Amino acid sequence: MSSNPTGDLTALIRTIPDFPKPGIQFRDITTLLADGDGLRDLTAALADIARPLDPDLIVGIEARGFILGAALALSLGKGFVPVRKKGKLPGKTVGIDYVLEYGADRLEMHEGQVPQGSRVLLVDDLIATGGTANAAAQLLREQGAIVLMALFAIDLPALGGMAALEADGVAARAIMTFDGH
Ligand code: AMP
Repeated sequence: MSSNPTGDLTALIRTIPDFPKPGIQFRDITTLLADGDGLRDLTAALADIARPLDPDLIVGIEARGFILGAALALSLGKGFVPVRKKGKLPGKTVGIDYVLEYGADRLEMHEGQVPQGSRVLLVDDLIATGGTANAAAQLLREQGAIVLMALFAIDLPALGGMAALEADGVAARAIMTFDGH
């Protein structure tokens, strides 16, 4: 168990209205990251969920998923693999195109970095519609990985992302939830 109740972690998240566009309530985790107790307790809460699953690798989604994913990997003594936006990784990549609310994007990872049959845990800071995490999970599956769970610091249940992931057969958990968009 985390030594810090989830309510205290929620209080460390800063909400910035109308960023990056009008109507979005941006849930900013940098205020939690800057708090030593908060970062430790969030990592411990993620590790409490992840440890019994005994993953081989932690996979983090750019960019804030790198921070939490690396903290979790370190805490479990596992390796970390980044999934990045198009064109950022220097080696040979495999990727997936996916559709966003406005337009399209592409996620990539280094070829061969997630071996066939490996049991991986996907991490990001927040799930909204689930489009990003779903694409990452699909990419991992295409590489022959077993996605044990998608794990988030924050869920926005109103946007239905966790339900969409579960409908695609990806178990999903979050430490905190916020109402609205
Ligand atoms: P989605 O693909 O709709 O689930 O969006 C998830 C991605 O967008 C994550 O990488 C989040 O960091 C980011 N994101 C979406 N909505 C928000 C929000 N309200 N506050 C902070 N980050 C967000």
